[in-house]
Amino acid sequence: MPNSCPKCNEQNIVKSGIINERQRFLCKDCNYYFTVKKLGKQIDDYIVTKALQLYLEGLSYREIERIIGVSHNTVSSWIKKYNITRPPHSDFHPVYKVFKQTELVEYMSKEENLKGSGLVITEFGDKYMMIKWERFKK
Ligand SMILES: [Zn+2]
Repeated sequence: MPNSCPKCNEQNIVKSGIINERQRFLCKDCNYYFTVKKLGKQIDDYIVTKALQLYLEGLSYREIERIIGVSHNTVSSWIKKYNITRPPHSDFHPVYKVFKQTELVEYMSKEENLKGSGLVITEFGDKYMMIKWERFKK
């Protein structure tokens, strides 16, 4: 169920049939009919998963907010909802960079950028984000 009417923002919404294989909703406050794209739900799940991944990689709520554009309070609520506890990493902090595809390939082509580091690469909008753990570097 959507949280609120896209037109008037009220929360008085009921299901009102299926149109073109989509659930249709009716706002009982302003009588506006609307459907919700299936894709919308997938994107939401995707963003939640990404936020949880970043959290586990050691990023703070505010860093995650900057990266995925969801408020730190929302990120915090997801962490609680899914009961995520991350092990303490007091001895290191991940470094992250955002690359275009060509920049990423160039970065990866240099062995000194890879050796002695753990890397995670994740899609980030039309670019790629690399999280690097320099824990094992001297
Ligand atoms: Zn409405």
